[in-house]
Amino acid sequence: MSRIPGRKTSTPPDSLVPGWEPEPEPEHSWTLAQNEVTSEKPSPICKSPECIHLAHKLHNYRDPTVDPCQDFYKAACGKYNEHTTVMGILLPEMKLAIRNLKILLKHFLQFVSSTETQSTLFLSETAGYRNEIARDQNDLKDLFQAIQTIGAWPTVTENWSESEFDLSDMMANVASLGSDRLGLFKVEVRFSLPVFFIWPVGTEFPAGYLEQSVKNIFAANNIKVDERVLEEDFKSFEALEAELSQLKYSPNASWGQLIEVQTHIPSVDFEKIFKSFMRLEGRDDMWNKIKDKITTINDPTAFESLETILKNSSKRTLANFIIFRYINLMTLYFSQQRKMPCEKEVVKMFPLASLRVFVRNHFDKQNLKMAAEMVEHLRKSYIEMFEQSTWLHEETREKAILKAKMMDYMIGYPEEFEKPGALDKTFKSVIIPKMLNLLETDSYFSSLTKICQFQMEQSVDYVAGLVGLIATEDLIFGASYQPLRNSLDVTVTILDDPMFDSTYPAYANIAGVGFIIGHEIGHGFDPNWRKMNEKGEKKDWWTNEDSIEYDKRAQCLIEKYNDYDDPTYGRNLNGSTTIGEVVADILGVETAWRTYKSLDMSNEATIFGFEDFGLDKLYFHIAALTWCSAREEFPLETKLTHPHATPSFRVNGVFSNMKVFAETFNCPIGSPMNPEKKCEMF
Ligand SMILES: [Zn+2]
Repeated sequence: MSRIPGRKTSTPPDSLVPGWEPEPEPEHSWTLAQNEVTSEKPSPICKSPECIHLAHKLHNYRDPTVDPCQDFYKAACGKYNEHTTVMGILLPEMKLAIRNLKILLKHFLQFVSSTETQSTLFLSETAGYRNEIARDQNDLKDLFQAIQTIGAWPTVTENWSESEFDLSDMMANVASLGSDRLGLFKVEVRFSLPVFFIWPVGTEFPAGYLEQSVKNIFAANNIKVDERVLEEDFKSFEALEAELSQLKYSPNASWGQLIEVQTHIPSVDFEKIFKSFMRLEGRDDMWNKIKDKITTINDPTAFESLETILKNSSKRTLANFIIFRYINLMTLYFSQQRKMPCEKEVVKMFPLASLRVFVRNHFDKQNLKMAAEMVEHLRKSYIEMFEQSTWLHEETREKAILKAKMMDYMIGYPEEFEKPGALDKTFKSVIIPKMLNLLETDSYFSSLTKICQFQMEQSVDYVAGLVGLIATEDLIFGASYQPLRNSLDVTVTILDDPMFDSTYPAYANIAGVGFIIGHEIGHGFDPNWRKMNEKGEKKDWWTNEDSIEYDKRAQCLIEKYNDYDDPTYGRNLNGSTTIGEVVADILGVETAWRTYKSLDMSNEATIFGFEDFGLDKLYFHIAALTWCSAREEFPLETKLTHPHATPSFRVNGVFSNMKVFAETFNCPIGSPMNPEKKCEMF
């Protein structure tokens, strides 16, 4: 019988540091102990530092005075607040992000990839930017230069004339600077589809900020402007902004193609604007590849109203408007970034390079293999669950199994990045092999502009279908299910303790990360996404009868959450908002348990202090650990908008639904953790 490997094997990290020698793999004392074990002897204890850490958490957070049949969340997590001040669930993302930064600082200079060199340069830029206020002046000078490329700025141009003004040109020039905000519009890439989405913006930034920013730019560039002129220009800006914010869209408006909406707003040449996001070469060809993939709100009336506003506004006001909004955007960004640790910004701007360095230096690649095996085990458990379902009709059952079988996944990062030079390739444009080229002499502003331009060019490549992957932070943080690809992304940051470790016994990894993967697969069968087929197309594959039965079963869970007496919120929660996540939890926990039971655990080590506990009980304690958290601080009305159930429900509500939980802890029928009424999905 195959089992998830729980052994650390000696795989030296793929490091390019000269002179780096792999350390000899330490022999784990528990591995030796295990060899001596016969069937009569007690299980060995896992003594790796990670296991000891896990043991500490399990002991510190649990409250042994609480009966697990009464309130298992309290029994497993009741003393969490006494031992930690961390708000929220135990996902180690933040910790890792910070660690990632340190790695970057420490190792980057020693690497040979030019992408990494670029990240290092940017890191020193961001660090310098935060440390020396004097550098502000350089940035404000560069910002002013950038503004001059947008078009003549009426406020500072003596004898500015209307004939110099072209609205589409100005917006196209803002696009050339890599900005996704173009004064009147905002552009976004919807990665999962993939398309560009563009929509008009009303009020964008807090009022009052602009004036100070503009004055700072004037001071840094020795520009003198008549106070009265400036005041008038600000007033017209605010008036236009107020008018734009009055624009309302029909709540029934769907998405439509931009090229269809274009006719309702002839003042704006969208083709010209989008071409400015592209490299100079081959723009016509690229435009043909993406023009059908630019979507917007399909509300011709609203766009006609916007056209009327543009026609009625003075050209001076419009020209100032485009520039003022750009200033607002950039200066606000500067001030926000200053508050962010610079390493975090590097991770944001160079997600792939950061990830690559992290994996190379601090991540045991064996973990990726183990996680991939875990996905396969969970897939099998899903298939088994569908096969054993007592109510699915054959037709639906087959399609459900097909969807589980066809579900694709990516763990850590795409394998092709392992090849030398592969990472640099992702930083080259597809058609013209031009690399991102930050220079040591660049100011923070210029570096940022170069990166944004580059990212926009890459987004165009991605939407045009020329590259299959785009670097976003999603590649680093968490796990997710992509319904439109029927695909699962599990990133390296969750493949770490407390949820995962290569030295953990197999059941601990299944209870931790196995559940998370099971949960994500479950989204493919949750009320929101169940009608998408195995290719991620919207195609209802459920028989009518099965659909009705499914909804009835989901309704049971909605009511369960509605009736749940949460320690923080009481019986005030709304099961309809959370049903997608609750179903994913129910399916995740069920399939993780099936996986745990299908594998041979007889040789697995136990955890300190839990030697006499029995693996099943220990399994549930480890599974609950993921949701141990400080008391939530959200007001009820905020919580009611959250898609996830409360941590307490994610343990009590979900586990009390499992017959095996009640059996494991011997909970009497009718006790809170063994209610007579259970909601079973499949
Ligand atoms: Zn989820």
